[in-house]
Amino acid sequence: MSQDRAPIVAEVDAVVVGAGFGGLYMVHRLRKLGMSIQGFDAAGGVGGTWYWNRYPGARCDIPSLFYSYTWSPEVQQAWRWSEKYAAQPEILAYAEFVAEKYDLKRAFAFESKVSSAVWDEVARRWTVTTDRGDRVNARFCIMATGCLSVPRAPDLPGQDSFEGETFHTGRWPHEPVSFEGRRVGVIGTGSSAIQSITEIAKTAGHVFVFQRTPNFSVPARNAPLRDEDYSAFWEQYPAYRQMVLEGTAGIAGGSPFRSLTAEQQRARFEELWNIGGAGYLGALADLLTNPVANDAAADFVREKIREIVKDPEVAEALLPDDHPIGAKRICVDTGYYDTFNRDNVTLVNLRKEPIEAITPAGVRTRDQEYPVEAIVFGTGFDAMTGALLNLDILGRGGFTLAEAWREGPRTYLGLQIAGFPNFFTITGPGSPSVLSNMISSCEQHVDWISDCLGWLQDNGVEVIEADPQAQEDWVEKVNEAADKTLFPRANSWYIGANIPGKPRVFMPYVGGHYRSICNQVAAESYRGFRLSKSRDSATQRAARA
Ligand code: NAP
Repeated sequence: MSQDRAPIVAEVDAVVVGAGFGGLYMVHRLRKLGMSIQGFDAAGGVGGTWYWNRYPGARCDIPSLFYSYTWSPEVQQAWRWSEKYAAQPEILAYAEFVAEKYDLKRAFAFESKVSSAVWDEVARRWTVTTDRGDRVNARFCIMATGCLSVPRAPDLPGQDSFEGETFHTGRWPHEPVSFEGRRVGVIGTGSSAIQSITEIAKTAGHVFVFQRTPNFSVPARNAPLRDEDYSAFWEQYPAYRQMVLEGTAGIAGGSPFRSLTAEQQRARFEELWNIGGAGYLGALADLLTNPVANDAAADFVREKIREIVKDPEVAEALLPDDHPIGAKRICVDTGYYDTFNRDNVTLVNLRKEPIEAITPAGVRTRDQEYPVEAIVFGTGFDAMTGALLNLDILGRGGFTLAEAWREGPRTYLGLQIAGFPNFFTITGPGSPSVLSNMISSCEQHVDWISDCLGWLQDNGVEVIEADPQAQEDWVEKVNEAADKTLFPRANSWYIGANIPGKPRVFMPYVGGHYRSICNQVAAESYRGFRLSKSRDSATQRAARA
């Protein structure tokens, strides 16, 4: 995959880290501001999460028509999705299409992993270095590093002794992988594993699914997109766009639980189950805040699992029982539960027989060894903070981000961190991020940051930095919002529970009206940010020399 890189630009206005949907649009907007840019990505090309997650069955869980940029009418007109939920190759092709159309690739050095970003207080600039020895000075550092970009390394004894092939869903090879006739072990039953198990089982000799915690999954009911689907989409598009702008798109609809009779509740669950997709969580207005409403929605899914899975013991083991439905990311599948009716699929219930070790020939649980030729780890990611904390980021006074976030991430609006001037995070912790349509949230952050940088230019402001008190107030608001919901009741990656030792802090903002809050902050001349006027350029040159 190694490729020639364009020469690195050593002095720029902005460094953009990440060439996923956030980073690509960021480059486009910065160019419109006339800024010079150096982008970096560890990947060999654009696409971010869709570059890496190439596992069998990988597809979006947001309808493709909505998982699309809205900033380019040309792209909207030119691109046509083939399915309701696009598969990974098509989403990657979409990212490449946009990058080509707007000539965005040349802003990036690929296969170049940023290793540090250090703020120079005198020069008022960031120095960014990479694993290729690059060194770039920039006034702004914009992190479009993604929320699920650092795969969680499995931590099982004996892993290195395994003589077969191993894969992680989040770092899938670019070469085709065939499981035809092979014995495969899949570890994990989150979204990635659930999608891949269903697909791998179609050709594998045998699939052993090693499940520690059962998850809720709803059918996608994926289908080709027809002309009439597109027509209906365009008809409702103005209203949808308005909802996106107001920040109300995707907010649970439906009536509150108690306003419906038991029959009406059931009819509602059935209706959304039949429509398919994560919209199931919108069945009731209070599904994610009222435990009784949540139990009813969860019971309905458990009933469906019992109906679909023929072996009652397997069905029982697949029933999620340790978290409210939706408090962990709901999985969206294409025949997952039915896969357990196949003769070539075995569910290994790790609650009864925990994994003791990976052996040269397979996976050994407390009860027996399962010989496999390949192991697929669908063991997740160090979510939301992993990509940032993996770098050495030093802000004001040499203070590191790791120190600043020792007790969990703290940001102002998920956009900036006190002590880290001119440093922005796209869909960072403290913003709706992973609990929203990521592509729309990337767009909103990029628009906000670009407008902010334009405003700084127009107003002669050189440095912008979150005010520590404004940040504290925002962190409190994020926590208060989460505490009103059922989210904190699950040991999810939203709360860092999947990473041993990670502080338990609910990271996304779920309080609503986020866009209007951000817009209002901007309208009030960036309330809650400290702004420092430009010094004259001679002083700056002297400082840099
Ligand atoms: P995940 O949801 O964190 O799931 C990881 C799985 O691995 C869990 O079942 C976990 O079990 C298991 N696991 C971890 N360590 C283990 C161990 N030592 N032994 C046995 N099992 C172990 O990760 P993911 O499936 O990659 O999904 C992450 C997120 O990516 C999703 O929630 C979603 O937001 C996103 N995603 C989206 C799509 C889509 O758009 N359709 C597809 C894939 C992923 P425990 O629960 O017991 O820890």
